[in-house]
Formats: sequence, structure tokens, C-alpha cells
Amino acid sequence: MNSRPRPEGRPVITERPAGRAVELKSPREIEALKRSGKLAAGLLNAVCAEVRAGVATEDLDDLAARWIKERGAQPAFLNYHGFPKTICVSVNNEVVHGIPGPRKIREGDIVSVDVGLFCEGWCGDTARTIPVGEIDPAARKLLEVSERSLREAIAAARAGQRLGDVSNAMQSVAEAAGYNVVRSYGGHGIGRAMHEDPHVPCLGRPGTGLRLEPGLVLALEVMVNAGTEKVTHLPDGWTVLTADGSLSAHFEHMVAVTGSGTEILTEV
Ligand code: MG
Repeated sequence: MNSRPRPEGRPVITERPAGRAVELKSPREIEALKRSGKLAAGLLNAVCAEVRAGVATEDLDDLAARWIKERGAQPAFLNYHGFPKTICVSVNNEVVHGIPGPRKIREGDIVSVDVGLFCEGWCGDTARTIPVGEIDPAARKLLEVSERSLREAIAAARAGQRLGDVSNAMQSVAEAAGYNVVRSYGGHGIGRAMHEDPHVPCLGRPGTGLRLEPGLVLALEVMVNAGTEKVTHLPDGWTVLTADGSLSAHFEHMVAVTGSGTEILTEV
């Protein structure tokens, strides 16, 4: 790892082995990201409050679109590489990137809601999986373990630690419970763009990868499958499914690495 200014003087750290520059945010920029993160967290709460049996996933999308517009913000997912809706809603064996539609949510489902928006030019991105009514104990355990996996990853995202420590925290918690983390998707840097470097896999080796520095802002995401880590896709080109039909959970928070610890940006 080496630290060097870009031509415009912005502090960066270089990601190895890729050698790409990872942007560090100033305290003012982190304050702006806290505003967009907080707004995204408010949206996620508003959508999750409406998740119940009988509601169509497109109803949740309509709500999200209105909510964002009323606050003068802009949706981040709509038209992103052609994504047709405002939020992602992924049910049961759907891992991520489910397209809202006429499908009705049922009692006993687990529903992953992923929201993204832009506020004053800064992105906010957060997700969680919630139960619908009474769910199977095995499904409940998957949600608990997946949420804990993200919490441990956040705790590991401190200055001086490496990206591999963060990824390994996710993987260790999931695998200790007999689950598997998804290999082909992960978290990301975030700022004025939704997806910035570095990519943050859900698995990794401790002590490897980028060294974290104050000013680094990451959207940490964990996707945990109850069965195989392998995934397939629906013909819609977006929806990711577990290859064996097992349940999957998804939790995401934006965090800022600071001089004194880690700050979660996506809390209301
Ligand atoms: Mg994300």
C-alpha cells in the first residue's frame, strides 16, 4: 500500500494488486455521505414497514419512488445499467437484484429490500432482509447470523486493518453457522458514484488486501446462502437466485473509517 495525492490533490490509497486508486473522503464529504446515508436508511425503514402478506413487490417500489421524490432526492438504481425499478426486492431464494412486480408477499417469506438514492449529489445505499409474520426457525437463524456477519465486518473495518480482515469477518460468521457467502457479488466503495473502488468481497483472508485508512467510505454488503454459495439468474437478466433453491439473506450498511473507529452512515 502506498499513499499518494492524485493530480487534483485528492488523497488516495492504492489498491493492490489491482493498483487502482481508492478515493479518501474529507470530513465534509463524509458529512454529506452521512446525510445521503441517513436518507437511504429512512427510505429502507419506510419500505420495510409496508412489507406484509398480500402486498405486491411493485407496491413497495411505488412507495419508494414517491418517498424519494417527495424529499427532492433521486433514485440510484432506476436505469442503472438498465435496471427498470427504484428498489430491489428479493424474496426467499432470491439473493439480490429482484425486480419489483406483481408477485405478492406471503406469510413466512423472508424479504430482502435494497434501496439506493442520491441526495445533493451523494449516494446512499443500504439493505436488509426481514421476516413476514411467523417464519421458520431455520429462516430466523439465517437472518440472525447474516446480520451478525455484517456487524462483525463493520467492527473489523478500522484504520490499520486490511480489507481481507473485513471480508473474512463476514465469511467466518456465516461459515461457522454452516452457511455460505456469495462469491460473485460484494460490497463497494461509495461516494458521488454508487459503485467506487474497492470491491469488497464477502470472503477473504485476514491480513491481506488494501489497508484501511481514515476517510475510506465503504458500502459493506453480506449475502449469505443457507445452502450452496452458487447462484443462477432469472431470464430477466437481474434477479440472482441460489442455485439449490435455498434461502438467502442480504444486509448492507455504509460505513466511514475514521481516526477513532468506524461510523455507520446508514442509520436514522
Ligand atoms: Mg450496495
